[in-house]
Amino acid sequence: ILEERIHETVLEVDLDAVVHNFNFYKSKLNSNVKLVCMVKANAYGAGAVEIAKTLQYHRCDYLAVAVAEEAVTLRNEGISLPIIVLNPEVNGFEELITNNLEPEVYNMRILESFINNSERSGITNYPIHLKIDTGMHRLGFLPEQIEELVETLKKQKGLRVSSIFSHLSASESWSFDDFTHQQMETFRAAAQKIENELGYSVHKHILNSAGIERFNDYEWDMARLGIGLYGVSPSGLSGLKNVCTLKSTILQIKKISSNETIGYGRKEKLDHDARIATIRFGYADGMDRQFGNRKGKVLINGQNAPIVGNVCMDLSMVDVTDIKAEEGDTVVLFGEGLPVTDLAESIGTIPYEILTSVSPRVKRVYI
Ligand code: PLP
Repeated sequence: ILEERIHETVLEVDLDAVVHNFNFYKSKLNSNVKLVCMVKANAYGAGAVEIAKTLQYHRCDYLAVAVAEEAVTLRNEGISLPIIVLNPEVNGFEELITNNLEPEVYNMRILESFINNSERSGITNYPIHLKIDTGMHRLGFLPEQIEELVETLKKQKGLRVSSIFSHLSASESWSFDDFTHQQMETFRAAAQKIENELGYSVHKHILNSAGIERFNDYEWDMARLGIGLYGVSPSGLSGLKNVCTLKSTILQIKKISSNETIGYGRKEKLDHDARIATIRFGYADGMDRQFGNRKGKVLINGQNAPIVGNVCMDLSMVDVTDIKAEEGDTVVLFGEGLPVTDLAESIGTIPYEILTSVSPRVKRVYI
């Protein structure tokens, strides 16, 4: 298996590390708090089906995806856990009920559409999750809309509120802690008002990974775990295990003289006689072009090698003048020894983007 793998470009996914991280966050919460694991965007690149199967085996309470199609794939692969669909389509109610998927409801338009659909199909008490906008200003009902929301909900029988939730906009940044506390209080008031008016109690949740790490006083009944599950702690906690390691291979090494240029556009002129290795990984595999021209680096035999010249579609070149490297050697693009957080920082992005950019043609291998 190793021999076969070594010549491929693969994303190695450590499922034991996923379980470790799952338990790590679980241990930070009261035992009655339900964990919703985010498997949207192909489980942050790790492969939603395998991750969901692992989580189902380890008794995760809920999964969440962005769009219904992601959830349908999971259902077709035998995932029976409750699944929240965060960004359902206004006309998508039929698909949701057919696949037993629980939508986020974030505005009056989608609420009314779902109520009409539930009445037409004769369904009652279908679980929905109400999103409140407490300051993120993305999806969700604003506090001043709650009156109208509740009045509409009270008049119908098709839908039943399973949970009320909100999303923190800066839970990882100490400098915005006052704002985060304000979001918590806005949420508390909104949830209380909805519950009182509806006359039944519902689950409440606001914490994401950074929230679980830093604000577990506000754990309420559920928490939504994303990036932490995949081994990246937004607040820099230690104790998580690396999940994804992206690996490729050196296809060719050659000696190139000083003053020669490397790659498209002749962007980089060598200032030394160099050994240049070409690796099988380019922007179509998920390598951001901003990593070119020595902004990014890879790991070969435990040593760093800078990326030289512009990143190509399927290939990149690295400078291996000063390190031990042979044709056929494995190249680590991120993972153990090359944290995705550091790479993200070097080009002014976030680990989420690097992880979710690994393209579908990169084979996922589970170890
Ligand atoms: N909840 C919602 C609504 C989200 O959109 C996300 C991720 O984007 C999360 C929770 C998980 O966040 P994180 O990956 O930071 O834990």
